[in-house]
Formats: sequence, C-alpha cells, structure tokens
Amino acid sequence: MEKYIKELEELDKKHFLHPTSPIQQQQADGPGFIFTKGEGVFLEDIKGNRVIDGMSSLWNVNIGHGRDEIGKAAMEQMSKLAFNSCFSTYSNEPAIRLAAKLAEIAPGDLTATFFTSGGSESNDTAYKLARHYWILKGQPEKKKIITRSRSYHGVAMGATSATGLKPFRDFTNSLAPDFYYVDHFSTSALRELIEQEGADTIAAFVAEPVQGAGGVHIAPEHYFKEVREICDQYGILWITDEVITGFGRTGTYFGIEHYDVAPDMMCFAKGVTSGYAQLGGVMISEKMHQDFKELSTGTLLHGYTYSGHAMACSVALKNLEIMERENLIENAKQMGVEMLAGFKQLQSKHGIIGNVRALGLMGAIEIVKDRQTNERFASPLAPLIVSEAAKRGVVVRAVVFDGQDTIVFAPPLIINQEEMEQMMKVLSETILAVENTIKQGMRG
Ligand code: PLP
Repeated sequence: MEKYIKELEELDKKHFLHPTSPIQQQQADGPGFIFTKGEGVFLEDIKGNRVIDGMSSLWNVNIGHGRDEIGKAAMEQMSKLAFNSCFSTYSNEPAIRLAAKLAEIAPGDLTATFFTSGGSESNDTAYKLARHYWILKGQPEKKKIITRSRSYHGVAMGATSATGLKPFRDFTNSLAPDFYYVDHFSTSALRELIEQEGADTIAAFVAEPVQGAGGVHIAPEHYFKEVREICDQYGILWITDEVITGFGRTGTYFGIEHYDVAPDMMCFAKGVTSGYAQLGGVMISEKMHQDFKELSTGTLLHGYTYSGHAMACSVALKNLEIMERENLIENAKQMGVEMLAGFKQLQSKHGIIGNVRALGLMGAIEIVKDRQTNERFASPLAPLIVSEAAKRGVVVRAVVFDGQDTIVFAPPLIINQEEMEQMMKVLSETILAVENTIKQGMRG
C-alpha cells in the first residue's frame, strides 16, 4: 500500500497542475490528501484519515458526500441520454424541467435560465447578456460593469476582470476592459462612481449577496435595498452572484432573500448540483426575457457545448428534491445559529479570535493579536491554524487577502449538532496549540 501511495504522490507532482495551489509547496510536500471516499460531512483519504469537510469542499457539496440516489439519477440519465446539443431549437427534458423548477424557486421574477458548466462561465455569460441586452435596446454604449472590492467571481477572463480581489487580477497582465470597482459596503461610493462615469455607459452592477472567497463579508441590513433603488434610478441592471449563496447555504434558498429584494439577473452554480455534476447558469427576469424575445431577431450567439447538459440537469433536479425532502435549508438556518454560537464560545476561550460572523452555514472568524485594537499578527496565523486543523480532522480555509487573517467555514447543509460540536472542539484544540506555540516563541 505504501508503494502504491508513493507512486500516486509522485505522479501528482509530475503531472497534475493543481488549480489555485501553492505550486512550490505541492512540489515539496506532494498532495496533502488524496481523497478516496466521501460520506455525509466526512471525507476519507487514501491513508484512512477521516476529516470533517468544513468547507463543503469548495462551498458546494451542500447535500453532503456519498449520495447513492444522485449516482442512480446520473446513471439512469446517462444510459438514456447523457448529452445532446441544446443549441438552436434542440432541447431535453431534464434541462426543461430544471429551468422550470428554478423559475419556481428563484427570487423575484427571474424566470428564464441560460445554462453553463460552472460559476466563472455564469459570470462571463451574465456580463455578455447584460451588454447584449443594451445593444438590443439601442444603447450600445452601456457596457461598463461595476463590481465590488473583496469580490470573487471566478477565473474566466470576464470573471477574473470582475473580481475585486486584486491578486487574482494580477495573475495575468491583460484583463477584459470596462470593469470598475467600488467599496463593497458603500452605496454612496456606488452612486458616486455612476455619476462620475455616467449611467449611460454602465451596463450592470454585480454583487455576491454574501462575499465568500473574499472572507465571508455580510452586507449591512439596508445595503441591497439601496443597491436596488440606485440601479432602478440610473437604469442599470443588477446581477447577483449566488454561486456560493444559492441553494440553501445561508439558510434561505438564495442569499438575497435575507434582504427582501430581487435582482434583474442571477448567476448560480456549485450548490445546484452539490458538486455531483458540473453545472451553472444565469437567470434573467421575465421583463428581460420578454425584451430578448421581442428585440433579438438574429441568433443569440452565446452558448457552451455543455449548456443544458442532460445528465448534469437531472443530477440538479435530484439534488433539489433531496434538499427539499430533507428540509436542508431549514437545517442550514438552525445549524448556522449553532455555528455562530460555537464561534462565540471559541472567542470567549481564545484571546486571538476577533470578529466572528455567520449567515446560515457560511461563517468566518478573524485572528487578531489584540482584540481591543484589532491589531493583526505581523504574518497571518490563519494558514497555520488551517493546516493544523486539517491534521486534527477538520478542513477549513484561510483568507489572507487585503491584510485579512481569517478562517472561513461552509460545512454541508446536513451537518448535525454532534458534528458541529466536533468541528468546534477540533478548532479549539488547534487554536490552543497555536497559542501555546506563540507563547513559547515569546519566551524563547
Ligand atoms: N462566483 C462566486 C461567488 C464564487 O465563489 C465562485 C467560485 O468559488 C465563482 C463565481 C466561480 O465559480 P467556478 O469556480 O465554478 O468557475
């Protein structure tokens, strides 16, 4: 067995260029975990280590791992018809049924869906559809996209250009034009930028209902109501990026429901299939759909090979059925309260925990040197805590962009009380160990 694992580790180093990865560390240490199995909130690796997947992997395995029922749905659809083109007027039943289901559950009057294979494609699609919409409406100069600091929208060229986290944009040195950034919580900054650039040059404003990869930032209560008013006032389309917040993550079907407003367009991916198949999409309002139908006389020249993938759509339908049958959104809401209570307990035990926050099962704890002044450590501690927690059986994620020192959480929506307590216990032990190391360092 050891030889077998060694072989895989060497092959990984030699041939697998990992996404979003520390390449030198991967070369030095090899893969941290080679996962072989998933069951509920747990992942198991090739060496038999069992860890709680405190991030639902990439904020996406909402219904938890190892669901046979999904496997059966995928197999049935694959054996019947895995894929057909949905270009032109071709269609298939799972895509039709899923689009109809999404219209039923989506906020406001979002009624029509354009399918993609993931979140980045969804964002690029939303920006292109928004710009195309204004071309059809006779206002082709409306093409600028406004986005927010600390936002993450993916790694396709448009999605990267829209991402407020600068290191992602700096990865490449030529971005898509016409993207503008405003402070993530300031509606006055949004208004000022619109005034400065001119509303007649702006196509859309894009926002995650809760910013995820940027460090789980929850907008103030009135922020999105004001965003809606501003977009209406200036005739700008509002796109919500629900790639993380969609499908129960925050304790409601969609994150924007907390703010009691609805967008004109919505990007989704991840939780729509809980990661069992690659699927995303963009929903547009009935009004936009109507305008498209009336004004688009030629071909809608935007489509991915896998738009409307039959197998992926059947997986999504089964995933949503499970989510509803098992009341997982309500569980996310209740366990989110428990998670926040757990964070507060950690805070009371450990001086290095500053601000804590959560909305449903999307949460964060900040690491500080001094809670009173919010002073940070010279180099962030979150990465060390995260790697130590993984060794002790909990996988979470560190966010250090923009001078942050934060640990983020997004456990599967099926998590129960016992598993939540286990997650907090491991974290507390890990933080205590790190605190002791710091103290020893100070003494030594
Ligand atoms: N939008 C948001 C809010 C995301 O969090 C992500 C991925 O984490 C994306 C878009 C990109 O999605 P994908 O990685 O599926 O392309």
